[in-house]
Amino acid sequence: MLVLGGTTEGRAVAAALAGRDGVRVVSSLAGAVRSPALPEGEVRIGGFGGAAGLAAHLRAERVGAVLDATHPFAATMTANAATACAATGVPLVVLRRPGWTPGPGDRWYRVGSAAAAAAALPALLPGADGRVLLTTGRGGLVHFAEVDAAFWVRAVDPPEGPLPARCELLLDRGPFALDDERALFAAVDPHVLVTKDSGGAATAPKLTAARERGVPVVVVDRPPLPVGVAVESTVEAALARLLGP
Ligand code: NAP
Repeated sequence: MLVLGGTTEGRAVAAALAGRDGVRVVSSLAGAVRSPALPEGEVRIGGFGGAAGLAAHLRAERVGAVLDATHPFAATMTANAATACAATGVPLVVLRRPGWTPGPGDRWYRVGSAAAAAAALPALLPGADGRVLLTTGRGGLVHFAEVDAAFWVRAVDPPEGPLPARCELLLDRGPFALDDERALFAAVDPHVLVTKDSGGAATAPKLTAARERGVPVVVVDRPPLPVGVAVESTVEAALARLLGP
């Protein structure tokens, strides 16, 4: 089985299958971060060369099943997996953790893209003195470059490309504890939090911290899944669907 990973779920799948007789598991990472958290067992790192490259890999390695446990925003990899598996007849299950939902008192503004998130900011800020806590990762920051506000940008590795003129980098990787998020919100005192709808527990405490301080949240919605792919929301269900009970 090929596990497309780079996530908590990808590591959980590898751990669940470690040592299971009769199943060879290879976890695949993009190589996008400098020091990735490695899953148990066999690991390969780096892109396949698009859908065609992945299809060739599936044939060459005689892969029996693909479990796409990539991040909900890794839309290119998920599209390539759907195309390559359809072309080769290899069964595919996408493991997609549920998205976040607002709780009582939350002020969320859902938008369809990073560009739309940037466009939504001026109305939520008190002018040029506005402070934004931006947790959408190091991609798409170019969209925020023209917003006249002070930004605190949290990312795993330093971003490349244009950044907002007033920008402080917070290089850090989840999981994030609620008390640490509370301390961050107290230090930055943001007028707005911007996040992707990543879902999962590891990065959710920022939403609690925002709620406690009455900070509005701009939430970038997930890209759609490819039409017709099999989707499960838990490790157990995804493995059962691919391997049987
Ligand atoms: P992406 O835009 O969907 O993928 C870009 C390219 O990276 C793919 O076309 C593929 O290259 C390669 N790639 C992506 N995931 C791969 C994997 N697991 N194994 C081998 N190659 C992979 O992905 P992304 O948003 O840059 O994310 C990259 C990785 O980071 C993913 O594995 C994802 O699970 C993880 N991650 C992403 C986010 C996020 O917010 N996007 C957050 C946490 C973790 P080829 O076309 O050459 O095959």
